[in-house]
This record gives sequence, structure tokens and C-alpha cells, in this order.
Amino acid sequence: MPTDKIRDTSEITLPGIAASPGIAHGQVFLHLQNDLELPAHDIEPAQRGAESARFDRALIATRQQVQRTKAEVEKNLGTDEARIFDAHLLVLEDQALIGETLRELDSTGHNIERCFHRVAQRYISAFENIEDEYLRERAGDIRDVAQRLLQNLLGQSAQSLGELAHGRVVVARDLTPSEAAGLDRSAALAFVTDTGSKTSHAVIVARSMRVPAIVGARDLTGRVRNGDWVLVDGYEGRVILHPTQQTLFRYGQIQLAKKTLALRLLEASRKPAVTLDGATIALRANIEQAGETALVREFHGDGVGLFRTEFLFLSSPRVPTEEEQFAAYRAAAEALAPAPLVIRTLDLGGDKPMPGGAHLFAREANPFLGHRAVRFCLDQPAIFKDQLRAILRASAHGAVQLMYPMISGREELARANAVLAECRAELTARGVAFDAAMPVGSMIEIPSAALTADLLAQDCDFFSIGTNDLIQYLLAIDRVNDRIAHLYEPTHPAVLRTLHHIVTEAHRHQIKVSVCGEMAGDPVYAALLLGLGVDELSMTPPLLPAVKYAVRAMSLTDAKQLAAAALKLDSAKEAQALCEEFYHQRVKVE
Ligand code: PEP
Ligand code: MG
Repeated sequence: MPTDKIRDTSEITLPGIAASPGIAHGQVFLHLQNDLELPAHDIEPAQRGAESARFDRALIATRQQVQRTKAEVEKNLGTDEARIFDAHLLVLEDQALIGETLRELDSTGHNIERCFHRVAQRYISAFENIEDEYLRERAGDIRDVAQRLLQNLLGQSAQSLGELAHGRVVVARDLTPSEAAGLDRSAALAFVTDTGSKTSHAVIVARSMRVPAIVGARDLTGRVRNGDWVLVDGYEGRVILHPTQQTLFRYGQIQLAKKTLALRLLEASRKPAVTLDGATIALRANIEQAGETALVREFHGDGVGLFRTEFLFLSSPRVPTEEEQFAAYRAAAEALAPAPLVIRTLDLGGDKPMPGGAHLFAREANPFLGHRAVRFCLDQPAIFKDQLRAILRASAHGAVQLMYPMISGREELARANAVLAECRAELTARGVAFDAAMPVGSMIEIPSAALTADLLAQDCDFFSIGTNDLIQYLLAIDRVNDRIAHLYEPTHPAVLRTLHHIVTEAHRHQIKVSVCGEMAGDPVYAALLLGLGVDELSMTPPLLPAVKYAVRAMSLTDAKQLAAAALKLDSAKEAQALCEEFYHQRVKVE
């Protein structure tokens, strides 16, 4: 890395993938938490006292940080949530772990980072292999604490993303969805990652939090330093390092124009979503937290078409109880009633590992093809049933609907429905109220489900198409891999034919079809989807106004013609061009 004296600070524009719209200007906060590179050197016997004193200082500093975080969490979330940090403090006081590390230093003469890392790893694997679930969870505590301690030993910032200094642009190799959800919105102006794509869950979270984001910026983490000034253009996917005054002025103008446009769209979105030829289209919102129902109202959504409940689990150090889930679902249902709340059962796994769930999820070579969503739930009936009962109970308090993610076929759907039936019977026996007619649907996001839509439709009250996964699996494009992100084509003939097939089969069985993947929130595709016969669209709340504007500007007859023409094309590019032409000619608001 060059020294500051010779470091070039002239303006550089670096390309990335525009993932969440908005413009931000701030100082870089480099978040490299998971990539600790441990130095390896030997310590002379005479220096070992100083090395163990360095270890003591790091232990003290880490203890102080954990205590501060604990106090903060206690203040914001309550005593129960803060209790996890007691377990962390116990690890830092564990004389066996500390003693073993010092003995390792004496016997090997290796630097203390290596000694501590080795001992901590031994402890982690010992705990991971214990039968008892409670004890197994301690492995996660040791891993967390070891990470912090090593950061302190290496003199790196152990600052968490939730406690950033004001006005920072977070730059990371990658962000997990829970890290994105934990960003301190008042301090984090934007984030940029080296990897990722438009449909990765961290990005979906950023869009709903209205945090501008760029992904796929390749080696940005290697080019910037903490404190560098950077401008993030989340509309065009550009990162401008060391922006000049002229650039800042130009972007100031762009920001003003975008803001004015957004206000105009929001104003227009007070009107109903009715096409020029009188068809009313339900435009619903995707939410990740019960509290986001306020956003649904702000952006005039017709209720919620997808509540990604796994975020309740991602933001908690342990599996939330039935009562905790019930409280969240009930609050959302009541806030939205009489508009619907479509609650999706747990979709953990894939790019959403549960931070406190290491004992529940094994490491997998292909997590998107792995132990994810309903597959995980069917293997964990206690967790699944807690959630199903919580959803059923919430159905007594609003227009709740339930849907399963990642259904692959009729038998799997039947297994899930059998567990639901058990939960209904249990609640009935206990005299607990629920809506016996609660609609139950399936997401269609696996090709096998799409191809057997005729069978699934017989056991479903509705379908919701998850285009993020459906496209990933149809085209074999990992949805979070930036290197192949350009091949992720929503207008690929295979995608259009599959959508057409699903809608045709659903309508033949008199059930409605919604699309709740990111494709539904792009106004360029609104005419195509509605023309294909999709009944409802569900999207991140801030995207609702632009899609509603598109709906109001088109006629369903024209949309059907567009879809029919697109279905005849043999290339994704041509179909994309057709959608863009339709959008620019009939819809685009300037
Ligand atoms: C989808 O796959 O399109 C979807 C809506 O689900 P998720 O993005 O949460 O996987
Ligand atoms: Mg999905």
C-alpha cells in the first residue's frame, strides 16, 4: 500500500452495480470484520512477558467494549436482549481459555494472536460438537468474542456497524443481511461492497431502509482507506473517490432533481392504481420488520404482499419464541387491517444465515441449493410450529394470509400443510382464536414448482412468484455473484414462458397470482407482468410510487399486446428493449 505522501488523491470514478437508489457523500468506513489476517512471527523468550501484557491489555479493552455494547442494547432493546453479552463477558474471564493461550505462547513461542486463535478454535469446535443445544450455542459466543479480541490485538477498529461515527459510507467485501439491517441509519449514509448483486438480501434491506448502495465494486476495499471522501451514486452505480468541488456541485443538482421527482411521484401515488382502461391492480409492499407497516402507509401500499419473517430471527441472538413472533405479526396485522398481510414462513439459509444459529445450520458448499426455507422448517418441527401458531393467532387480528417459501412440489406443500393442520387442531383444543379461513398460498420460485403449477394450484389459495429465486434457478445464475450479474436477465425467454405458464395454470384453477420478487418493483417491467396476467405486484415500499405511476399511465390492453409480443421474441435483449421502449414512450415521468 502506498504511503500518504505519494498516494494519489485525484478524483477517480469506479463502476459498480446500482443496487439501491440515492446519492451520498461521506467518509469511508472500511468494514473488514471477517477477514482478519493473522500475522505469524516468533517471540523471543525475553519478549514473552511483553507479549502476554499485550494480551492482558486486549482482554481489558475487549471487556470494556462488550460492557459498553451491553449497556447500549439494554437501553434500546431491554434486559433480555442484553443478556447475550453476559455470556461474552464470561468468555473473556474464562481462566482456562486465558491460561491455555499463555501456555501456548510459552511452549511454541508463536505470537499471541496465533496462540489465542488456535486455542479459541479448539474451544469452538469442542462446543460445536456437544449434544446439548444450550452448550452448543456457546460456540457462537466464543467466536464473536474471539473476533473482537483479535481485532484489538491487531489494533483494528472493532466498531460495529450499529455504532458508526456520523456521515460514513460503509465499504466492505460483502455484507450479510443482518449487518445491513443493523446499520445505524442516522450514521451510515450508504454502503458499497466488492461483491453482491441487485437481488442479494443485504441490498433488498438497503432499498427498504432507503440507504443508497452499490454492489460488485470489485476491489474497492483494496483501493480506499478509512476516512477517504467518497461520493456514491446509487442511481447509476458509480463510486467517485476524492470527488472534486465541481463533481459535488453537479451531484447536488442531480440530487435536487431526483428529490423533486420523488415528491411528484409520491403526490401522484395518492390516487388509486387503476390503468387507463379501468383495471384496478393491487400494489402491495414487501417488509422485513413489523414496524415497516408505517412505510407501507407512507407510500400508499395496499397492504403487505410479502413479510420476510426471517429478519425477526436474523436480528435476534436466538430463535424468537411463539409469543415474540405473535406480538410482531399481530402488530403488523392490526396496523394494516383491513388491508392484507401476507406472512411468509421462515426463509433462513441461502444468503441469510442466522447469526445465533450456527448450531442449526451446517456449513454448505451450495447454500442456495441447500438446507433453506421450508426444507429447514420441515426438519425443525418445533421451530416451524411455533411460527405457524404465531401466524394463526395473528390471523384473529387482521387480514392475515400465509405462504410458504421454496416449495418444490405438491408433496412438500402437503407436508407443510399437515404441520399447519396440527397447529390449527392444537389451537382449537386450547380454545385460542384464529381465522379458520385464513388463505394459504405458495411461493413459486423453484422451476419444479413452476412446472407443476397445475398440481400446486389445486392445494393453494394463491401463488406468489419469487422472481429473485426463480430467475436464479432457471438461468443457473447465483443471485449474489457480481461476476455473472449481467447474465441475470428477467426478460430471458425461459423466464417469460415460465411466468406465462404459472399465470395460465393459476387462472385455470381460479387462484390469483402475485409477483413479489424485485422484478415487481421495477416500473420498466410493470406492463410486461400485468400483460402476462399477473394480478398483484408486491415490492419494497419506496418503489411503490414509481410502479403506481406506470400502472396509471398504461392500458391493460396495450400491456397484453406488449406481453404477447415479448413472448414471441427469442432473445432477452430484444424483450428488454421492448419493455424499455414501452416504458419510455408511455410512462416515463420527467
Ligand atoms: C424471491 O425469491 O423473489 C423472493 C421474493 O424471496 P427472497 O428474495 O426473500 O428470496
Ligand atoms: Mg426467494
